[in-house]
Amino acid sequence: KVRIAGLHKFFGELHVLKGIDLTVEPGSVTVLVGPSGSGKSTLLRCINELETIDAGRVWVDGELIGMREEQRPDGSVRLHALTDKQRAAQRSKIGMVFQRFNLFPHMTALENVIEAPVHVRHVPKDQARARGIQLLDRVGLGDRLDHYPSQLSGGQQQRVAIARALAMDPELMLFDEPTSALDPELVGEVLQVMKDLAADGMTMVVVTHEMGFAREVGDQLVFMDGGVVCESGDPVEVLDHPSQERTKAFLASVL
Ligand code: ATP
Ligand code: MG
Repeated sequence: KVRIAGLHKFFGELHVLKGIDLTVEPGSVTVLVGPSGSGKSTLLRCINELETIDAGRVWVDGELIGMREEQRPDGSVRLHALTDKQRAAQRSKIGMVFQRFNLFPHMTALENVIEAPVHVRHVPKDQARARGIQLLDRVGLGDRLDHYPSQLSGGQQQRVAIARALAMDPELMLFDEPTSALDPELVGEVLQVMKDLAADGMTMVVVTHEMGFAREVGDQLVFMDGGVVCESGDPVEVLDHPSQERTKAFLASVL
């Protein structure tokens, strides 16, 4: 489960997130949409600590992200920064898949998938390999283990990126426009892997313009504009009967 309360983020004087409140239930899929610059990527990046938070709180699985609260005897709350080690431990429980596949080009598909378990978690290599093969199988790439990224299609590379994120056994998966850089004929295979993952009960937050995916797989659709959540609710409801003018205008532009 993810809970976000009163989240603000600034880049210098630019106020990018202006008080975001959002709950993502365990095992549910939240689809995040909104115009360019509305703060979708920044929100994901705050959840997995690629950005620091300027105000508000984010909890993932009940654990406060990026800071520790200390209850003082006088009833006040003091905030402490996390150590690098605590931060790394939190981040390793959150998988992220980007628009660009970000695979290590000099490593095979399997080497990409086992990199973090072996070097960050210190999982024995044999064990990591066995699990890596399983994960690549699960994303339909059991026959591409020893291929380098340059020998794979964009859709295949993105599926390796998903397997790589899953290798750390995340409690939460964040996707930032995972299919936007793909040729149209490759979008479906990546969406299918994400659908399977959702069906397996993974908690997911997905930034995408794929409204079919939102409709079919989403439990919640969140429309952001100008750093605030403008409208949210059941995807079918929001898509068919948007209540806000800004949502209507945006949906008209993408559908
Ligand atoms: P898109 O649909 O184009 O990906 P987005 O909704 O993901 O847009 P963000 O990338 O979160 O939008 O950006 C929100 C705002 O914050 C934009 O005005 C952007 O220029 C600004 N911004 C993002 N990252 C930084 C940064 N590192 N430094 C300064 N400004 C930033
Ligand atoms: Mg973005």
